[in-house]
Amino acid sequence: MKSRPDGQQALILEIQRMSTEDGPGLRTTLFLKGCPLCCPWCHNPESISFEPQLEWIGARCIGCHTCVSTCVANALKINPRTHEIMIDWQVCDSCGLCVRQCPTNALKMIGTLVNLEEISDELLKDSAYLKKSVDGGITISGGEATCQAAFVNRLFERIHENGLGTALDTSGFCTSMKLQEAAINADLILYDLKLADAEKHKRIVGGDLGLVLDNLALLIDMGKRIWLRTPIIPGFTNDLENITGIAWIILQLCETHGQDWFERWELCAFNNLCSDKYARLGKSWIFTHTPLMNRISMEKLVASVIAQGLPKEKVSWTGMTELEGYTS
Ligand code: SF4
Ligand code: SF4
Repeated sequence: MKSRPDGQQALILEIQRMSTEDGPGLRTTLFLKGCPLCCPWCHNPESISFEPQLEWIGARCIGCHTCVSTCVANALKINPRTHEIMIDWQVCDSCGLCVRQCPTNALKMIGTLVNLEEISDELLKDSAYLKKSVDGGITISGGEATCQAAFVNRLFERIHENGLGTALDTSGFCTSMKLQEAAINADLILYDLKLADAEKHKRIVGGDLGLVLDNLALLIDMGKRIWLRTPIIPGFTNDLENITGIAWIILQLCETHGQDWFERWELCAFNNLCSDKYARLGKSWIFTHTPLMNRISMEKLVASVIAQGLPKEKVSWTGMTELEGYTS
């Protein structure tokens, strides 16, 4: 990642307004770009790279080929069979020239470098309705938000100055210093616990579980309000062994810190709505044809951890399941 001055700038992906999934109440969520993990189920593949990336949106393309002749780096080609535009991401230097020349906005640069002031002004446009929402506020997510910790810290400061609540969504895979810096002004932490087994954690998501758990203990010591979240991914995290393993970790922490250190634990059901994001980046995704979880399986997982001793009122499942649609 290119260095950015003293928390005054960040590479962002997008802002999502009126979110009900990134913390309590209504939220405006800022997604930062760049993540050190490699979860195979990632729902925001465009957020992984620490650099801007070009994408082609086929449905908007009229086939004028202006972009191909515009690119001096020769990073764009026409597929001779399908006539689609093919991007060579190894060659593209993200100069953005083709994006500006495309008459139909069929090329898009993912990732924008923003200044603290401009992004806080943009987020604070939502103040009026966020303040009316009970416990509503602004969430910073990723990518991995702690990778741009100084920026997160300053942005949360500004949000607080304007009387809004803040939440940090993190995998906890970062140095303790970065975590403290990003979390110090966060009113709520949304914290991922994905896999209970250290070897699988390392092999599948590419990060050290010990570090994630040490950082969770740090947040508890900081007295942070914590919501735990576990993505329930078929074939990776949805087995009883994994979920009861995570429950065991939580119960161990309860022995040391009492039961009040976490407010809730959400089991978040897998969905495959992001398949086209992978296609636009020229990537295949192993979950494209994976069916959704079903309601009974989700309820069984919740029941199993309650039977293990977790407080019933703190454990729930969210997301989309087969047939029924969204629930929470
Ligand atoms: S300039 Fe835009 S519309 Fe024309 S071929 Fe390229 S992507 Fe398609
Ligand atoms: S962003 Fe620049 S280098 Fe990349 S394809 Fe477009 S014109 Fe070429």
